[in-house]
Amino acid sequence: MVSLFKEKKNIDVLICGAGPVGLFLANELAEFEINFRIIDKVEKHPELSKALLIAPRTMDILDNRGLLYPFLEYGVKMKQFCMIQNVHDPSNPNKIELSNMNSNFSFGLINRQNKTVDYLIDALHEKKSMRKKHVPNVEFCMELIKYEEKDDHVIAVVKNTKDNVEEEIICQYLVGCDGVHSNVRKGINGWTFEGQTLKSSWALADVEIDHELVKYDQVTSFVLNEGLIVIFPLGARKNTFRLVVKIGDEEKKNETNDHVTHGLTNETHMTLEELQKLVDEKIAPIELELKNPVWISNFKINERIVNRYRTGRVFIAGDAAHCHSPLGGQGMNLGIQDAHNLAFKLALVIRNQAADVNKLLDSYEHERYPVGKNVIEGTGFATKMLSGNDYFTSFLRTRVAPILFQFFPQAVFNFQNNLMQNNLHYLPGSSEILHKYKPRSGTENKLIEAGHYVQDGLLMKITSHKSHERITMLDIFRSTALKHTLVLFTLNKGVTSDCNPLIETLLEIYNDYKNTITPIIISYQGVVHAADVPFMPFHEEGREQHIFVERKFELHEKYGVMKEFGKQAFVLVRPDLYVASAVFEDDVDELKAFLDQYLIKADS
Ligand SMILES: Cc1cc2nc3c(=O)[nH]c(=O)nc-3n(C[C@H](O)[C@H](O)[C@H](O)COP(=O)(O)OP(=O)(O)OC[C@H]3O[C@@H](n4cnc5c(N)ncnc54)[C@H](O)[C@@H]3O)c2cc1C
Repeated sequence: MVSLFKEKKNIDVLICGAGPVGLFLANELAEFEINFRIIDKVEKHPELSKALLIAPRTMDILDNRGLLYPFLEYGVKMKQFCMIQNVHDPSNPNKIELSNMNSNFSFGLINRQNKTVDYLIDALHEKKSMRKKHVPNVEFCMELIKYEEKDDHVIAVVKNTKDNVEEEIICQYLVGCDGVHSNVRKGINGWTFEGQTLKSSWALADVEIDHELVKYDQVTSFVLNEGLIVIFPLGARKNTFRLVVKIGDEEKKNETNDHVTHGLTNETHMTLEELQKLVDEKIAPIELELKNPVWISNFKINERIVNRYRTGRVFIAGDAAHCHSPLGGQGMNLGIQDAHNLAFKLALVIRNQAADVNKLLDSYEHERYPVGKNVIEGTGFATKMLSGNDYFTSFLRTRVAPILFQFFPQAVFNFQNNLMQNNLHYLPGSSEILHKYKPRSGTENKLIEAGHYVQDGLLMKITSHKSHERITMLDIFRSTALKHTLVLFTLNKGVTSDCNPLIETLLEIYNDYKNTITPIIISYQGVVHAADVPFMPFHEEGREQHIFVERKFELHEKYGVMKEFGKQAFVLVRPDLYVASAVFEDDVDELKAFLDQYLIKADS
């Protein structure tokens, strides 16, 4: 690893905050072999869980990094959202099935946040024990007090909260994953956290419920004239649930962001008796007995977002950058995806592999800010529609929504997919590191666009010992995850240089960008035989051949490489699984020009 300031600086990255976002970032940086430290001011994480829902896109990402196993093993697969709108006839609720979501994972995964944090810490320990010596432990009881940004480094002052001894940490980059009260955000003048506190007030309780309407593998909601009750499974036991109840609407107080607690503003807590009475009043004649509360809290919802995600050498991610209604279950998911976007960019810069450092680092904000804003708007809209007390929203909820469910289920389903970020793509116009491409030859262009999330599909791997193994596109990306993957879709042209000149082009690009790109070839069965498979220089990485075939043209078509156009294509996929560039064979020079502006060549 080449570090720009190895002699001068202590570490490359300081991560402030070891919540789920900081810990995911730490795992990423450990994979990229970056020299970092991660600190948290608490002695240990609280047992109480905030986030429960892990969205399909986050599962994809965790899977891509080999982190998903414990989540799937111990989490609860949540298969549907169930909305009861008529308390007098609750047996016929509206349902959103999650089984055909736009993802490999056709469910939401319920996993307590404290477990998420444990699994991510375990994964760090595992990396350390696999002799990645640079992997540090989380340093608890270490609080970031202040920091100062210099031209080529950041000086952070951290205090050991046990003995009050202060330490200066010198790092190239500081990332604030320190939650809504972020000291990192407050440390730079001009960094704002604008937004509003909603006037609705809510109660939240983790309780036991035994009732036939409330099932452990679904989210159950009562969507009523008087507002909303949502019940999420907690996963620990089959009768433990999180209940979120709207109490009412109050005049807005003049909240500053200092009163914000994890997207919520704390009020006085309710007793179990008060909560039971509230629930009874709302859903009578249904009787839902609440027992053995672990946690009861009252809250108000804050919707806020920072004006910037980056200032010089300082970044923020997760709740430090945005907070919103917890009803969509998106906050932690959004934060983990922030970290996923940022990690490979920091790694490229620290390893001196980025052609334009500022362009690359700025793209973090350009890509993630609009996503944060969208989630705030989407969850805000859903919360208002489900719980607003005014005549209009109440009418939409009780009269229009049932019609939508009955006659336009696809619209409801699409809304749900969007809310869960399953359809998330970056717009090529929003980020300078996404290739804006138009085919020169005027070919009709159905190619996947830069900024789109990868598509999955089934392939066969041709190995040198002439056997065929089934493999998915996402399996392939798992094995190439720490680099960009350059995919050559060959249609029916074969995979030897004699019959397909693009093989030479692929090797040429590989030679130029050995350290940052892994090439693969996807061809069509019947055209490629094991005997044809040429020697590829990628063997040096200890992997099998990088040539795969498909039986039908399904995957080609998903990436927009259509048989009828007869053109082969290159698709460059980033380590965060978004497409950086896609071009037809006649425009390979455009791809090379794009790479020139994006990555540094191996020997330069
Ligand atoms: C009731 C509720 C339900 C939710 N449900 C969901 C859900 O289902 N799905 C979902 O995706 N999201 C959900 N969320 C949101 C989710 O909990 C947050 O988005 C998530 O915790 C953000 O993670 P984070 O790592 O950014 O911040 P945090 O979890 O807040 O972690 C920040 C860490 O930084 C540390 N820290 C703070 N200041 C300093 C400092 N100066 N120095 C050192 N360390 C510091 C803190 O001790 C803490 O450990 C929910 C939130 C609430 C409140």
